[in-house]
Amino acid sequence: MAAGNKVVVVGAGPTGLLIALGLAQAGAEVTVIDKGEGVLRSPRAMVYLPSTLKVLDDVGVLEDAKRIGAFGYRFTQHFLLSGQKGGLDFHDLEGITPYSYILHFGQDELADLLLERLKALPNAAIQWATAFQGYTQSDDKVQLQLERDGCEEFLDADWLIGCDGAGSAVRKAMGVQFEGFTWDEVFMATNLIYDFEKFDYADNNMVADPDDWRVVAKINNDGLWRVAYGESTELTEEQRVARITERFKRILPDPSEPYELVLANSYRVHQRSAETYRSGRVLLAGDAAHATNPIGGLGLTSGVQDASLLIKSLSAQFNNQAADDALDWYAYERRRCFVEIASPTAIELKRRMQEREPAKRQADEAGFFAMLGNSEYKRKAMLSTFDLAGRPYREDWRQSYVAEDLRNNGGIVSGHGGVTIERAG
Ligand SMILES: Cc1cc2nc3c(=O)[nH]c(=O)nc-3n(C[C@H](O)[C@H](O)[C@H](O)COP(=O)(O)OP(=O)(O)OC[C@H]3O[C@@H](n4cnc5c(N)ncnc54)[C@H](O)[C@@H]3O)c2cc1C
Repeated sequence: MAAGNKVVVVGAGPTGLLIALGLAQAGAEVTVIDKGEGVLRSPRAMVYLPSTLKVLDDVGVLEDAKRIGAFGYRFTQHFLLSGQKGGLDFHDLEGITPYSYILHFGQDELADLLLERLKALPNAAIQWATAFQGYTQSDDKVQLQLERDGCEEFLDADWLIGCDGAGSAVRKAMGVQFEGFTWDEVFMATNLIYDFEKFDYADNNMVADPDDWRVVAKINNDGLWRVAYGESTELTEEQRVARITERFKRILPDPSEPYELVLANSYRVHQRSAETYRSGRVLLAGDAAHATNPIGGLGLTSGVQDASLLIKSLSAQFNNQAADDALDWYAYERRRCFVEIASPTAIELKRRMQEREPAKRQADEAGFFAMLGNSEYKRKAMLSTFDLAGRPYREDWRQSYVAEDLRNNGGIVSGHGGVTIERAG
């Protein structure tokens, strides 16, 4: 398959912009299209864990991110059953990794930052208000069908990268299933000004409770915080918003303290992965490839690792440094990281936050404090998102890694990324 370096990225979310920037820096001719009029401002990701900081560093935006973000070091788990709380301090990673901290800022600000860098490159362009509709592909090119100002347009490229979010039109055009399930609840994400620090909240907090579980995290140093909690699917969005005051009475450490609600939005949450992340010249990344509940912050954290591997794999193609097979590896390994690591971890974290059975809640608490009592386990927990980076490419990956995966797990990821293997047993 001829390499060619003309790339169209569909979706100017953080994943698409990161990929566009990395590829443009590697010399590709990149066009980003997005159906919106500008960067989406809804309250979503705002916590950047060490593995993400490394990728931001790789594309040269970490110093800017450090300027706009608030530094976070402490994570605390609150157990309402016993009233105990305990936590991790990322200062403990000093000397082990240069990324011994967490950054906090809205993902829209990350998108702004990436966009600014992208616009400065002569070989990159962005087209807003342009919706992807479909594509056709041959051996040597892909043609996109777009809609702009009510008119149909066509655009030719060597590669199409779908980063158009969980409802991805690119994934649908590929005819690929989004395997998994949707939770029967919605997550309410609220941004508010409130003095959590006065009540000894850490920069990041998870509060375990079957009814009033919540995630509480700092967004900036000016008193803005994210509080996310569960709501019923049976309520309308208006009813959910109307209930915020009532929910805050139970959730805020002292509801008589003044607060200012800045933004609120609810989201359906999923555990889903595309059955494959590649079809010839078309690749998927970020939420277009996989969607998870946000507890643990593994959604964009996974998308950033997709971006990192895709930048390396595709730019190696342009520079004739890698076989086409490196893109099959991208599709295989990124799917494995999501299906085997990110998604089960997020499901388990969600269970621990919402667990109703007292015996299990006690066991969760005991397990957490046992982890805190062992410095090696604590370190592993803080470095755990680096596992989402996956394994390094090797030419014999089908004979080595895939065979090993088959032995270890019966080929959970079989049939994906151009790999067809039988389930063991
Ligand atoms: C409440 C909440 C909190 C979260 N917190 C975290 C967190 O702390 N850490 C974390 O890692 N993750 C978190 N996530 C997940 C994170 O927000 C997503 O993983 C992230 O937005 C994915 O980025 P993306 O660029 O892949 O897709 P998106 O951000 O969804 O961007 C998709 C883009 O594609 C465009 N688009 C869509 N369709 C088309 C089309 N047909 N044509 C052209 N353009 C199109 C859209 O306009 C949009 O700009 C959270 C999610 C939620 C809901």
